[in-house]
Amino acid sequence: MTAAGDRLGPTLFERSRPGRGGGKIPHPPKEALARIPADRLRAKGPRLPEISEPELARHYVHLSGLNYSVDTGFYPLGSCTMKYNPKIDEWAARLPGFASLHPLAPDELAQGTLQLLWELEQALAEIGGMKAVTLQPAAGAQGELTGILMVRAYHHSRGDVERTEVLVPDSAHGTNPATASMAGFSTVTIPSAPDGGVDIAAFTAALGPHTAAVMITNPSTLGLFESRLCELLEAVHAVGALAYMDGANLNAIMGRFKPGEAGFDVMHFNVHKTFGTPHGGGGPGAGPVGVGEKLMPFLPSPRVLRESDGKFRMERTGERPQSIGRMRAFAGNSGVLVRAYAYIRAHGADGLREVSDDAVLAANYLKTRLAGILDVPFERHCMHEFVASAATLKSETGIRTLDVAKRLIDYGFHPPTIYFPLTVEEALLIEPTETETLETLDAFVEALRRIVAEAHDDPELLHSAPHETPVRRLDETMAARQPNLKWRAMTGSQTPCPD
Ligand SMILES: *Cc1c(COP(=O)(O)O)cnc(C)c1O
Repeated sequence: MTAAGDRLGPTLFERSRPGRGGGKIPHPPKEALARIPADRLRAKGPRLPEISEPELARHYVHLSGLNYSVDTGFYPLGSCTMKYNPKIDEWAARLPGFASLHPLAPDELAQGTLQLLWELEQALAEIGGMKAVTLQPAAGAQGELTGILMVRAYHHSRGDVERTEVLVPDSAHGTNPATASMAGFSTVTIPSAPDGGVDIAAFTAALGPHTAAVMITNPSTLGLFESRLCELLEAVHAVGALAYMDGANLNAIMGRFKPGEAGFDVMHFNVHKTFGTPHGGGGPGAGPVGVGEKLMPFLPSPRVLRESDGKFRMERTGERPQSIGRMRAFAGNSGVLVRAYAYIRAHGADGLREVSDDAVLAANYLKTRLAGILDVPFERHCMHEFVASAATLKSETGIRTLDVAKRLIDYGFHPPTIYFPLTVEEALLIEPTETETLETLDAFVEALRRIVAEAHDDPELLHSAPHETPVRRLDETMAARQPNLKWRAMTGSQTPCPD
């Protein structure tokens, strides 16, 4: 038995043998140690594993093979748009001219990158129907904060300082209310209408002179297009508030719907979701924000500017006094932005519309096929994702959404998002994306059909799933309360993963 469990294999510490060593450093500097001040030298060497280079390589290659990713299988995690990321975008991001550019390089040596960033801003502005875009925010959540800080600056610039509230529907992503409070507002949660859309009556009742903004996700996290949008935005503007669109679900509407033209004042793009960057493991993302006329003066600085002679430069400090200032170092996560640019240029306008159409088609196909297997609470046409529920299954068999999700792993699938949105009991939020084949979608339906049959015939099989993975069902409460993240020499009953 090893500390991590037999199927994971021994840790590096367990593989360690005194005196074993890794690769050789070519031409080590002479007397390197002698150059370090004596009071900075360690008295004792660190307790690092002593291991040969081939063993080290095998250890990590083995671990990497245990990873589940979009490159190994279907990943229908709703709200996250886990689509296949074209490898050509990776190639572009690794071009040395982009990847090795020093962030402090003077503008005249960075013309290519500046041009790419400027053109990406133009492309996103066109896709969103917005007047201008900032690329600075590092993710959707930071994009929201950027947008709402601009909303605050806008109201304050007009001497309108009594607006303290941001209205957010109850189906929104948790980042929306978090953003409102980080920007100093209080959040007013608005319940959804029975059809899953915004409740116009509840919204208009809550709107007033204290409303700074409303945050709307369209299509919503239920995968539904807000059909009462025009009415809602009119009411918002009538009380002098601004409308923010959470654009995380852009993968459903590109080329079909431009939020800026519909009347939204500000929106963010999750380019790592919509335009191809591997994400989900906490890696870098980008959350550019588009604004309409009213918020342009408040965009973060510095912006990328194009001069009349066609050269590009970064804005200078203080050049735009109303700016909310910097949200992030340099120009943002430029590697992610290069991938987004490559994706947009490779697809073109028609290609992006096709992406959305195919994502919506795939979701509606899955939803229709699953309707006889699980509950599908919202019957109307969905966008890029849809909500299913195991509520009936639970009442008939005691099997819950969590059990279904764990059993899906045995069938070789990454589970969908579960227990979100919070407004649906025993929810599964399923987003197939446009990049999956008909055969994959059918295999997923077949797996769920068999799992539901198992729930009736052999519920214990599901309660104890997964059975095929290196680590079996975890005690999620203990994992959250007593996370065991560090190796310590352990023996017998102390081993963290009983197999
Ligand atoms: C993913 C997501 C966010 C947050 O975006 P990050 O890039 O993960 O910070 C916000 N809203 C919705 C609807 C999302 O799906």
